[in-house]
Amino acid sequence: MRAREVVLRSRPVGWPVPGDFELVERELPPLHDGQVLVRNEVLSVDPYMRGRMSDAKSYAAPYALDEAMHGGAVGVVEESHADGVDVGDHVLHALGWRDVAVVDHRSVRVVDTSAASASAYLGVLGMPGLTAYAGLTRIAALAPGDVVFVSGAAGAVGGTAGQIARALGAARVVGSAGSAEKVAYVTGELGFDAAFNYHDGKVSRQLREAAPEGVDVYFDNVGGEHLEAAIGSLRRDGRIAICGAISAYNATEPAPGPKNLSRLVQTRGRIQGFLVSDHQDLAEEYWGRAGGWLADGSLRFRETFVDGLGHAVDAFLGLLHGENIGKMLVRP
Ligand code: NAP
Repeated sequence: MRAREVVLRSRPVGWPVPGDFELVERELPPLHDGQVLVRNEVLSVDPYMRGRMSDAKSYAAPYALDEAMHGGAVGVVEESHADGVDVGDHVLHALGWRDVAVVDHRSVRVVDTSAASASAYLGVLGMPGLTAYAGLTRIAALAPGDVVFVSGAAGAVGGTAGQIARALGAARVVGSAGSAEKVAYVTGELGFDAAFNYHDGKVSRQLREAAPEGVDVYFDNVGGEHLEAAIGSLRRDGRIAICGAISAYNATEPAPGPKNLSRLVQTRGRIQGFLVSDHQDLAEEYWGRAGGWLADGSLRFRETFVDGLGHAVDAFLGLLHGENIGKMLVRP
C-alpha cells in the first residue's frame, strides 16, 4: 500500500511559500498488532502549524524536515489490528497531511459520525471548539452580563467563542474580522450584536463605537493592534484571554508590545495566555454543552473546504491570508 503525504522540506522565514513543502509518495509498512490503517476523509490546517514549522524554542516540538506534516485528521478504518477499533469506524488522529495513515490505536479516538459530520470533530466539536470554551470559561471567567469582544470572529475558534459567550449570558458580543462578507456572517448567521472590519480603520475607534461602554472580556486571536485596542476599552476587572496572535505569526522581527499596559492598573485588569492542551479535562463538559447548543441552534458553524491533498499547502496559506469562513479543511 502506498500513501501520499505532504512533507516539510525547508523551514519558512516570514511567509511560508509552496516550495517549503512537497507532495511525496511512500510505501506504507505492514501493520503491527495494535495498529490501524486509516483512509483520511478530512484534514485540518491550523494556525499553530506555522509555529511548528520554525525550530525556535516553543511549547511544541518543531516539525521534522522531510516528514509529513502532523495535525488533526478524521478518516475511516480500512484495516484493524487493534481491539476496540473496527473496520468502518471513523477515527480522529493526529498524523495529518496524508491520504492514508498507519496509526497506533492508542492515538486514535473513535468519533460518532451519525451525531455530527466527520469534519465537525476538527472544528466546533474538536480542538478549536474546546479552545473557545476553555478560553472563555476558565481563562476569561466569563460571567452573565459581560460585554465580550472576540477577534478573528469569523474563524473556527472566534466564531465559536462569540456564540458560547452569548449562550452563557453575555450582555453584548462584539467581533472583528477581515472583510465585509465576514462581518455580515458574524452579525447574521452567528448572531453577534456588532462586528467591524479591522481593515476599515483604527481598531480602537471601531471597538469604541461597537462597545461604547467598554468590554469586560477580550478573547484575543490576533494580538498587535487588536490587543492594544482591547486594553484601551477594558472595563474595571476586565479579563483578556490570549488565545493566539496570528497577526505576528509570519513576522521576521519581534512584534511591538501594547503601549497601554499601565491601564491594567486602573482597570484592575488581567491578561492570561493559555493552551488548549492544558484544558482537556473540560472536553467532556464542552462536548455535552456543545451538542445541546448545536441541537437548539444557538451554536452554528461554517466550514471552508479545499479539495485535493496537493492543495493542502494552498489551504494552509489561504488560512493565514484569511480565505476561510469558519474552519479551514482539506478533503484529500
Ligand atoms: P481561523 O480564525 O479559523 O483562521 C485564521 C484567521 O486569522 C483568518 O481567517 C484571518 O481572518 C485571521 N487573520 C490572519 N491574519 C490576520 C491579521 N494580520 N490580523 C487579524 N486577523 C488575521 O483560525 P483558528 O484555528 O480559529 O485560530 C484562531 C486563533 O486561535 C489563532 O491565533 C490560533 O493560533 C489560535 N489558537 C490557539 C489555541 C490555543 O491553545 N491557545 C488553539 C487553537 C487556535 P480575517 O479575514 O478576519 O483576517
